[in-house]
Amino acid sequence: MAFFQFVQNNSYGVFTVNDTVCHRLFIEADTHDEAVEKAEELGCYWEGVSGGIDCPCCGDRWSYWNDRPVETDDIEAHAQNLADSFGWTSPDARIFYKNGRVSEIYSDGTIERKVIMWKKDDVYLHIKNLKKEN
Ligand SMILES: [Zn+2]
Repeated sequence: MAFFQFVQNNSYGVFTVNDTVCHRLFIEADTHDEAVEKAEELGCYWEGVSGGIDCPCCGDRWSYWNDRPVETDDIEAHAQNLADSFGWTSPDARIFYKNGRVSEIYSDGTIERKVIMWKKDDVYLHIKNLKKEN
């Protein structure tokens, strides 16, 4: 099983943060194509500049050119290290596991765990709080 990374570029100088997207997304999937599909379910879009959505000088908000899985034995620790270095949004990173589990990684060391229901060809269903821990 592999995790693919989608890093948001703050086009127009702002990040989009909502229930699904934040600065950095890790999506567990068997293939990069599957991860791209799930990223789209979460609200990522591609070629935003040519689509007239994103700022031409800042560039596309989202891209999927990085098709190499993240190399790490501990995805949460990996995400935490990056959140500690960047911490540009709150949460800084979300890890979407294949089984629906979501870990939200904050730059203050907090990890919040939730569950989503993946739903194909539709907006995903809901997020349910499980627990918050430090
Ligand atoms: Zn710009």
